[in-house]
Amino acid sequence: MSLEPFPAVSAVVLGIMQDGGLPHAGCRCPRCADAYEQPALAGYAACLALVDARALPARVWLIDATPDIKWQLNDLRGILGPRPGRVERLRPPDGILLTHGHMGHVGGLPQFGPEAMAADGLPVYASEALAGVIRESAIWRPAASTLSWATLTAGRPVTLGYSLTVTPLAVPHRDEWGAGTFAFLVEGPARSLLYVPDIDRWEDWPAARAVVGAVDVALVDATFYSAAELGGRPPVAHPLIPDTLAYFGESAGKLVLTHLNHTNPVLDEDSEERAMVYRRGATVARQGQVFSLINT
Ligand SMILES: [Zn+2]
Ligand SMILES: [Zn+2]
Ligand SMILES: [Zn+2]
Repeated sequence: MSLEPFPAVSAVVLGIMQDGGLPHAGCRCPRCADAYEQPALAGYAACLALVDARALPARVWLIDATPDIKWQLNDLRGILGPRPGRVERLRPPDGILLTHGHMGHVGGLPQFGPEAMAADGLPVYASEALAGVIRESAIWRPAASTLSWATLTAGRPVTLGYSLTVTPLAVPHRDEWGAGTFAFLVEGPARSLLYVPDIDRWEDWPAARAVVGAVDVALVDATFYSAAELGGRPPVAHPLIPDTLAYFGESAGKLVLTHLNHTNPVLDEDSEERAMVYRRGATVARQGQVFSLINT
């Protein structure tokens, strides 16, 4: 993948798929079968990089550590540059911010551990409860113990750079460990962005409309277009795309859809469902897409 040209402070889309990615493990649906045949059609699990290229070398943070992280880091090779003293290796990012503990959002963390990138001291920002779940798991301990854990608290901004902050916002989402789920409000020097890859129901987050109304762009959970994708299984708790577009009404034009399941018809460029999204003024996120956070 090649990245679009990017402004000095920006958010870079490194993946737009639901946790299982595209192709999905064990799936022989036409979309997955094509992606197994042609890797160029594959898509990585949802991930957003924040880049501050005002510094040299540029500072880079990833929101979530996905199972596709090695490919996503490689897509940032031109920004990360070489690791000091090890010119054939990429410099690790400056930090990871975790939304929540599901597979597609933390599954790549062990890649920073001793078997792979050995990014000792890498700052990882997470809720205290999520950090506890990960660090207390015996199987995760070798990797987790090499990382530098920092606590995220809902509503408390973290300053990443001059006029660049990230504020975790608690959102309702399937919560097996009582560790919660964060959305992230990213405020750059001139533009703001909301990142909500996973949420159960917009109606259960009373601040949703106000938060979306206040930002310039909102990358939001668009896992499923319709319940038909579930093949008769009980409803999985994610909002459906038409309901999301209706819920945000006049703000729908700010929505950029991400975290798409492999079954989602908006993945097809020529689908009627995708056309409907664009008619409503929303768009579908693209791997490699760049959002400026400064005036350009
Ligand atoms: Zn997810
Ligand atoms: Zn599939
Ligand atoms: Zn989740």
